[in-house]
Amino acid sequence: MQCPSCQHTDSRVLESRAADAGRSVRRRRECLNCDFRFTTYERVETVPITVVKRNGSRETFNRSKLLHGLLRACQKTGLEPAHLESVVDDIEIALQQRNLREVSSNEIGELVLQQLREMSEVAYVRFASVYRQFQSVSDFVATLEGLNNRNPTSTANNTRLAAVV
Ligand SMILES: [Zn+2]
Repeated sequence: MQCPSCQHTDSRVLESRAADAGRSVRRRRECLNCDFRFTTYERVETVPITVVKRNGSRETFNRSKLLHGLLRACQKTGLEPAHLESVVDDIEIALQQRNLREVSSNEIGELVLQQLREMSEVAYVRFASVYRQFQSVSDFVATLEGLNNRNPTSTANNTRLAAVV
């Protein structure tokens, strides 16, 4: 790594540590020629993923946009921003591991729902109402019943959930 001060190409690493939630490594370096100290980041190269939206338009997958949508949908559900960030991390990893470079916005929505379901029923239903764009009351009821099948004791939660959405 070239020294930014004198362009010498040898440096020694003073410190290495994980950054960006483990997705990159931050290294503090010192130039062997002039002792100038600088920082470098090393990260796994990722291939851009194209998201095909419902109307057929395409855009590059944008993790901060997804995180922003999640934060908005999960306000007052008790989920910490750090939890939602880990949801986005997992989805990004899942997308990178597929062979396809295109994904529909519906598929991303379903991936989010799979994760939210384990974290918070309120967040799950609220996010489902946005991403599946409920066509009717029966769609909404079907989602609640999906939750109840998994957790038969939560029937009493229906009223609470309906009030939130
Ligand atoms: Zn130097």
